[in-house]
Amino acid sequence: MTASAEDPPDDDSPPIPALSSVPASGDRRRHPAPAHLRFFHGPMDCGKSTLALQVDHNHSRQGRHGLLVTQGDRSAAPQISSRVGLSREATEIDDGTDLRLLVRGRWAAGARVDYLIVDEAQFLTAAQVDQLAELVDEWHVDVYAFGLTTDFRTRLFPGTQRLLEVADDVQRVQVEVLCWCGLPGLLNARVVDGAMVRSGETVVVADTAPAELPGTGSSPTVRYQVLCRRHYVRRELGPTPAGPGQLALS
Ligand SMILES: [Zn+2]
Repeated sequence: MTASAEDPPDDDSPPIPALSSVPASGDRRRHPAPAHLRFFHGPMDCGKSTLALQVDHNHSRQGRHGLLVTQGDRSAAPQISSRVGLSREATEIDDGTDLRLLVRGRWAAGARVDYLIVDEAQFLTAAQVDQLAELVDEWHVDVYAFGLTTDFRTRLFPGTQRLLEVADDVQRVQVEVLCWCGLPGLLNARVVDGAMVRSGETVVVADTAPAELPGTGSSPTVRYQVLCRRHYVRRELGPTPAGPGQLALS
């Protein structure tokens, strides 16, 4: 198969292997099927990772092959895991990963990648979201991205903002998480040594160690709690600070 006018413009990427050696992509390009970039977003613990694993399960049951990626997973074996006990091995990426090269590399190695599941998509850079869009438009890979809507200051995460701008389909996931008052949880509050804060670094991964008493540790204890808008504005964390709905950001 020879190059056609459909080929994406040259960029700074390393050369793509000859299409004859990557049948999956070759087939795709001869028979382009519409692919989509879909984004699911919500507050912490709203069930995004469970949904990600469900989407993966549904596709793999139809014989399709997916690549799962995540970031911020500090374990030796990165995975997408949900609170309901499901988990699947995932590829760890960082903000320097070119997602196009990641997928093409799998193709060049003989693997099929029909779709991409991206967890923690709020941490993507805008450029990486554009790479996902290119995978959809030029390579017909379906992309399902899952991420937090806003940070603890109620501002959109960078990856979330770009996905809202360019995704084909955007859905807010609002199924499970409630504020302590019972209203739907909407915003992620950062709690440092028991007090809610609304300024600071965008990303501070919560301490997963048992909470230490304020003032006894060398570093402050950080956790995240989902609140309704009213209680976020009032900085009211509720009567049971150790109650449910207050899992570490993970
Ligand atoms: Zn509330």
